[in-house]
Amino acid sequence: MKILAVNAGSSSLKFQLLVMPEEKEIVSGQVERIGWDDAIITFKLNGEKIKETFQILNHKYAVELVIQGLLKHKAIESLEEIKGVGHRVVQGGEIFKTSVIITDEVVEQIRSLNDLAPLHNPANITGIEAFRKALPNIPQVAVFDTTFHQTMTEDAYLYAAPYEWYEKYHVRKYGFHGTSHQFVSERCAEILGKKEHKIIVAHLGNGASICAVKNGKSVDTSMGLTPLEGIPMGTRSGNIDPAVLMLIAGKEDKTIGEVIDDLNKKSGYLGVSGFSNDSRDIIDGMNRGDYRATLAHKIQVKRILDYIGSYYVYMGGLDAICFTAGIGENAPEIRRDVIKGMEVLGVKLDEVENEKRGERMISTKDSKVKAFIIPTNEEVMLARETVRLSK
Ligand code: AMP
Repeated sequence: MKILAVNAGSSSLKFQLLVMPEEKEIVSGQVERIGWDDAIITFKLNGEKIKETFQILNHKYAVELVIQGLLKHKAIESLEEIKGVGHRVVQGGEIFKTSVIITDEVVEQIRSLNDLAPLHNPANITGIEAFRKALPNIPQVAVFDTTFHQTMTEDAYLYAAPYEWYEKYHVRKYGFHGTSHQFVSERCAEILGKKEHKIIVAHLGNGASICAVKNGKSVDTSMGLTPLEGIPMGTRSGNIDPAVLMLIAGKEDKTIGEVIDDLNKKSGYLGVSGFSNDSRDIIDGMNRGDYRATLAHKIQVKRILDYIGSYYVYMGGLDAICFTAGIGENAPEIRRDVIKGMEVLGVKLDEVENEKRGERMISTKDSKVKAFIIPTNEEVMLARETVRLSK
């Protein structure tokens, strides 16, 4: 059975066609610069990368080109072969406790959450609508970044702010990267061979979050109402005293919205180092003795450890820490320094394994708490949920 996994952003659309239940990728790709005269569509299949440039002014046309491309590159013989489309949706609020088959009502419910995710949900809806038009007879499923964290209890998800903000405006922590945290923690539980477990997942990519998973359920996570909360990221600040907003708005004659924009786009690695949001550049900078790159790394490690310590206590122990996403899977220096900082909790780093790539244990055999690299696969989660619900 072939399932298409889709992740639509405001000017991009990523896709992957998988054979299920084998979870094998047939083709993947993306459309970038939607809305421009020189949009780029890329297909990766059979070890080849095919890139073309078109004028693609909207998502509807982007979807048509993706479907035409799947046929042209013989990933499918006919559209009937696609048995379902799984869409990543960033914010499911408190409405969606699981993934769902998309209906008109579901689209309206997702739209009703736009206030909570103004950068993401409208783009996700655009993708959904384009695919529903193009493939009207195929089940389409919405998989939310937030549902995995709906198991958090009030003490973890409520802010200590006026309770009416929650009642009136649904202000609370939702958490994100749920499909990734679920995929990685399920795989980790499988490796540990333990149904009862305490796992921390560090999803460290350009966006980054930490999640505490107890017996298969998310009990706390670092992102909040929006992805801005938590640990610092490529360009996001993570936690910061909200009083900074007023101070900078006054000093730099900016609106609060503009300061928040700075916290989203000019902070994190980029803000501290002053030159890059990419961990590769930060590590290079550190290696040549650049003071601020080193500082960006140190702050990052310290803030990741803050969460790990807190989750260790909150869960009452720890079986394993897992590293995933672009940085978590590829940057041994960051894993090394985080794990070294966790020695007090009973983790011992295997320096040799830590230098390698791909799924593996990177703690020593006698380490009380295990450490793993587990490559994430959000597309597989989308496809799994699509198969489960289309049945
Ligand atoms: P993601 O958002 O998961 O795609 O992660 C993207 C980030 O991963 C990039 O911005 C880099 O900071 C980081 N990254 C990717 N490849 C490497 C690598 N080989 N070494 C270190 N960091 C990497």
